[in-house]
Amino acid sequence: MTQPKVIGVVTTGGDAPGMNAAIRAVTRVAHSKGCQVVGFERGWEGLIMNNFRRLTPRSVGGIIQLGGTILHTARCPEFKTAEGIQKAAKALKEHDVCGLVVIGGDGSYRGAHELSKVSNTQMVGLPATIDNDVYGTDETIGFDTAVNTAVVEIDKIRDTAMSHERIFIVEVMGRQRGFLAATVGVTVGAEIILVPENQCNLSTVVETLKDNARKGKRAGIVVAAEGCGRVSELAKEIEEKTGSEVRITILGYVQRGGSPTARSRLLASLFAEKAVDLIVQGKGNRAVGLQNGAVTSIPLEESCSNSKPIDVSLLQLNDMLAI
Ligand code: ADP
Repeated sequence: MTQPKVIGVVTTGGDAPGMNAAIRAVTRVAHSKGCQVVGFERGWEGLIMNNFRRLTPRSVGGIIQLGGTILHTARCPEFKTAEGIQKAAKALKEHDVCGLVVIGGDGSYRGAHELSKVSNTQMVGLPATIDNDVYGTDETIGFDTAVNTAVVEIDKIRDTAMSHERIFIVEVMGRQRGFLAATVGVTVGAEIILVPENQCNLSTVVETLKDNARKGKRAGIVVAAEGCGRVSELAKEIEEKTGSEVRITILGYVQRGGSPTARSRLLASLFAEKAVDLIVQGKGNRAVGLQNGAVTSIPLEESCSNSKPIDVSLLQLNDMLAI
């Protein structure tokens, strides 16, 4: 009798809502196809320390609606060393893992790509990050949840902004990229969106706010990506140049947690099915994604070595909507 194939799964880098839905779907699709599943704990550290647990259709029950990741996640500097990578490859060999599903962001992908150079295990990346900054997919698992979380909070802030006729700068996450800020900005009706991809021009911001005041629009929301720099300094400069009070809110980690939206759960399930299919077919070192509505995959290396462009038309649309 032939031994069932073993598929590994790991969540690495920053957590994102929908990672649990992805773990569940990988486990259940794999079992439906006659494979066994091993989950490595705390990201790459779990492979280095050989810290794992068997995942079964029952052990992943009741987690589809949970934020975070039941396998935990961690940043792992040791994995960036040759010794660390070798230890991880050894663990994969020991468990006879034919394919490893890596659920994470672009950093996790780079790690998986490095590991693929010293391991026979097929790597498949599932994009999961609230930043939506993974090349080769229009959307990542968790992005929609983070957008909705931010929108709910900013709608509340707008109530106060309108009552007091004040400008609020709201900082959203996204590291060095502005995908979250752009989508959140358009969907809260922001007066101004600031993203790291465009240099922040203070005089344009001030002119826009002054012009708005002249038009009778004295309240306003400026959505700024965290990668744009300190919002406290920006607020001070706007106050000095407009003479109006400015308040700031840094949304922070609330954006990373919470129950995944239906969209994040659906993407997690569809991506997981694709990942297991690829591994069962013996195809690996690929990055799964959504392109023009279809679930697709590209070489992992291509995803690692390219930077996803921001949708400039979304920012232009906001300029038209914010008049
Ligand atoms: P994310 O996957 O959310 O982008 P990170 O950028 O922190 O998160 O990456 C997650 C982990 O992947 C890092 O802690 C590190 O262990 C590993 N990693 C990132 N880049 C590399 C690399 N170039 N080589 C090897 N491992 C890497």
